[in-house]
This record gives sequence, structure tokens and C-alpha cells, in this order.
Amino acid sequence: MPLITEKVLVGQRALITGGNSGIGAAVARAMATAGAKVAINYVSNADAARVLVNEIRVAGGDALAVEADVSREDQVQEMFQSVIQTWGSLDILVANAGIQWDAPFTEMTLDQWDKVLAVNLTGQFLCAREAVQEFLRRGVVPEVSCAAGKIICMSSVHDIVPWAGHVNYAASKGGLLMFMKSVAQEVAHQKIRVNGISPGAIRTPINRAAWETPDAEADLLKLIPYERVGDPMDIGHAAVWLASDASDYVTGTTVYVDGGMTLYPGFREGG
Ligand code: NAD
Repeated sequence: MPLITEKVLVGQRALITGGNSGIGAAVARAMATAGAKVAINYVSNADAARVLVNEIRVAGGDALAVEADVSREDQVQEMFQSVIQTWGSLDILVANAGIQWDAPFTEMTLDQWDKVLAVNLTGQFLCAREAVQEFLRRGVVPEVSCAAGKIICMSSVHDIVPWAGHVNYAASKGGLLMFMKSVAQEVAHQKIRVNGISPGAIRTPINRAAWETPDAEADLLKLIPYERVGDPMDIGHAAVWLASDASDYVTGTTVYVDGGMTLYPGFREGG
């Protein structure tokens, strides 16, 4: 996958939650390549975060690792304070951390429901609130960006595509769609842009079972008109664009990066 190398984020500081794995790690690499300083949040696997920080520094970028569980208010607040103290402020939040904990609906426990909503939706609220407070405190710095700040909410095609067996996950992402739009509406006049990225099937640990055997991958490809599984860097590129001034007139929108998964592929021959 070619990497866009234009330095459109020079001078900007980005925090990426769940940045030590999969899509978050690709977003961190892409934003660092575009010139941003990147803070890589992790809740587990500190080694992966450290390795990525090192990789970015060796390539000439600036990065740090910061631990926090995004569903815990105290930890989120400490994480933002630490990044802002180190770099003076923050320009970009990529609220990416997310989990799946699947079960047939009648067997789904309250714990499974609560945990997925806590990370995937409450985590977005806690992080976005801290980011908006910092963007408002600092305001627009025209040499850095047209906007006072940018938030990218990592959603899923399942914010509009129902998903049996994953009711907690789909509900969290559906909720995130309206969360993103409502915050965007509230803060647009303060020059803060809030958008979503909804990935289709991207090759990462979260959905390993869906692509790791040839049979599973063949089944998955039936859902993807573009006939390939997504690469995490497909999302990295979209995130750089949404964070850059090239998308300055874009807010409250979701970019579906899904190889056409939301095009109802069954209707190509059916219907
Ligand atoms: P992943 O499992 O590789 O990454 C998820 C990241 O979130 C990990 O770094 C994990 O440690 C972190 N995380 C989990 N709970 C956390 C918590 N409480 N606090 C902080 N971090 C936490 O999977 P991924 O595919 O890279 O997923 C990233 C995002 O993309 C998720 O929000 C996911 O829902 C979304 N997404 C992924 C796909 C896909 O096909 N891979 C499709 C649609 C949406």
C-alpha cells in the first residue's frame, strides 16, 4: 500500500486512542508521515506502543506512548493532561479504541453489553470532551490549521448496517453516529470539526476470524464489491485527509472506507 507522504500535518499534535494495534497504529504511522507529532494511547501491550514510538522516531518523527483505559474518566483526564503538558496543546483526536464481545442476543450478558458500550461509546464521549475543552482553551492558530481542532470518531459500517450476533457492537456504533453529528453541530461555530470514519472489513486483530483462513476470506469477499479486504493504511489515508486543512469544509460527516460494503452487494444480481 503506497503511503501518502505530503506533509499536510506539520506542527500539529495528534492523540490516537488504541494506537498500538491495527487501524490505530496505521493512523499513527500515516499522521507521523504527514508531519504530526503522535501520542499513541494503549491500555494493554505497552511493548507494541513502545515499538511504534521508536519506529516513528527512527523515521525522524516525534511520538510518545500514553497509557489509559478510555472508559475511565480519571485515566482519560490524566492522559490528556500529560500529552498537553508535554507538547503544549493538542490539535487532533482520533478516538479509535474499540472492542467486540459477541454473543447471540438472548445469551448476551449485561457485562457484555456494558463493557462494549463503555469502551466504544462512553470512551468516545470522555475523550472528545477533553479534546474540545483544550481546543476551546487554545482557539485557532492560523499558522497551524484553519480549525481550532479536529476530532475523528472511528465508527464502523455497523453504524448503519445491522449486525446479528453483535447487537452491543452495532448499538455502540449506531449511537456513535448520532454522538458525532450532535457534537459537530454544537461546536462547528467554534471552528472545531468532528467527523467519523466507518471502516468496512479491515485486516486487523479485531476480526481475525473473518479473514485468517481462505474459506473465511472467500466468504468475506462476497460482502465487498471492490473484492479485497481493507488494509489498515486505507483508513490511515482517510484520517490524514480528515485531519488536514484539505477537508476544512467537512464536518459532521462520515467517510465510509469499505470497498463498497454499504452498497448492498446482494442486490447486484438479486432484488
Ligand atoms: P484492534 O483490536 O487491532 O485495535 C483496537 C484497539 O483498541 C487496541 O489497541 C486495543 O488495545 C484498544 N482498546 C480496547 N479497549 C480499550 C480501552 N478500554 N482503552 C484504550 N484502548 C482500548 O482492532 P482495529 O480493527 O484496529 O479497531 C480499531 C477501531 O476500528 C475500533 O473502534 C473498531 O471498532 C473499528 N473498526 C474496525 C474494523 C475492522 O474491520 N478491523 C471495521 C470497522 C470498525
